[in-house]
Amino acid sequence: MSETARFSRAFFFLLDGARIDVFTELLERVDLPNISRYMVEPGSFRSATTVFPSVTGVAYVPYLTGLFPGRANIPGYRWFDRERYQKRPLSLMRFRNYHGLGSYMMDRDLSRDATTLFEILRPSSNIFSGISRGTGMRRNAAYFRRVPAAVKFFRTGSWDHVDRAGEQFLVRAARRKREKFTFHTTYSVDEYSHLHGPFSPRVRACYIDFDRVFGRLITTLRSLGQLDSSLLMLGADHGHTEVHEHFDLEGFIERRGLKTLYFPNQVKRWLNADAAVMVAGNGMGHIYLKGPAKWTARPTANEHLERHPQLVDDLLGEDAIDHVIYRPGSDGEVRVRSKRGDASVWMDGEQITYKVNTQDPFGYGPLPTTMTRAEALEHTAQSEYPDAPVQVAQVFESPRAGDFLVSANRGYDLRRERHNHLSCHGSLHREHMTVPFTVNHPILDRTPRSVDAFPTILNLLGREIPTGLDGKDLTRAPS
Ligand SMILES: [Zn+2]
Repeated sequence: MSETARFSRAFFFLLDGARIDVFTELLERVDLPNISRYMVEPGSFRSATTVFPSVTGVAYVPYLTGLFPGRANIPGYRWFDRERYQKRPLSLMRFRNYHGLGSYMMDRDLSRDATTLFEILRPSSNIFSGISRGTGMRRNAAYFRRVPAAVKFFRTGSWDHVDRAGEQFLVRAARRKREKFTFHTTYSVDEYSHLHGPFSPRVRACYIDFDRVFGRLITTLRSLGQLDSSLLMLGADHGHTEVHEHFDLEGFIERRGLKTLYFPNQVKRWLNADAAVMVAGNGMGHIYLKGPAKWTARPTANEHLERHPQLVDDLLGEDAIDHVIYRPGSDGEVRVRSKRGDASVWMDGEQITYKVNTQDPFGYGPLPTTMTRAEALEHTAQSEYPDAPVQVAQVFESPRAGDFLVSANRGYDLRRERHNHLSCHGSLHREHMTVPFTVNHPILDRTPRSVDAFPTILNLLGREIPTGLDGKDLTRAPS
């Protein structure tokens, strides 16, 4: 431990799919007494913003790497790789679905330029997250339990056994006194929200169950004499909203005469697709179009629109669709269109240029044309679309991003009904983009981004913060 370190070890708790309002309400009713007493009271509790797409796995990446999903090269829960689809017909790396076995590919998919907290804070351990680079096999013991556990969930509709297993791993990790970093996930809030709705009694009970698990961890840490030297931080990957109607985005593209690859018809389109639709959450989707040449050609969106002039208008003509986002040319412009109007965004390092072309597609009040990323968040944090100018730009830093990205309207999701899906997430909407964030140490009085957790943890453990991150330390005001 260096002289400046406030803590000697850290725990991060990812409460998958936690809504800020439900979490706050339970806190106020003293239904989360341990979180309240050991994180909120000695430290800070904030409404934070997550990333676009606001989906499981993808939105874990910022916490663990300090990078947005675009630069980390994981732009979706499902994605399509144009280059590999064309050149490597036998490869499994040509498109991805992190559901089930695909989750084992996340570490491979993560950009080589990303460094995880597991790699820096060794020894570290991971409990059920898809990203685990740096833990080593032994401290990623939950790895082989994840898929069988999920299969059991789909068979029984119960997620309780997974969380129980997670708790055992957590207590074991806590007892390893030398361990520096432990990342613990709780999936039940997310899974039961999809099945029963985000406000259902079953989901509320999951928040309370997690508080009990956390309470038992506190007891363990106290018995080890490590309670005061443990950094405790909690965040979520996305919120949830109820779904009233399903819109079949895959069918919408297929009906335009395009041979469309999507899950689960990937085998049928193994070789000859001329479009791909990758929906997740299910409130967002990536649309990839081949163009007249090979998949490797990567036409600009304007070139695609010459061949499909009605595409964006037809998408926006659907009640289900709120925003369509694309790069018109090759100068870095990101265009956002909604029924309200359209705007152009450029992200150049820290600087965001935001130009409204007709009416503001997000319905923001007047914004400065140029802002820092921090200012862009500050101006939009309380709006219906927090941090959207930065979020729509960052996702295109991944070469795996679609040609057109679609963000759903409230109340809709973007897949034909397959399972019982009462709730969704993934979009730019406030209720998907806002998450609870609490830590047992004071932080600056500003809206945190999930990506800020990474440098904050490193600083509070007395470690050097790598340069070039998307996240900013929440304990130090920018100089
Ligand atoms: Zn999730």
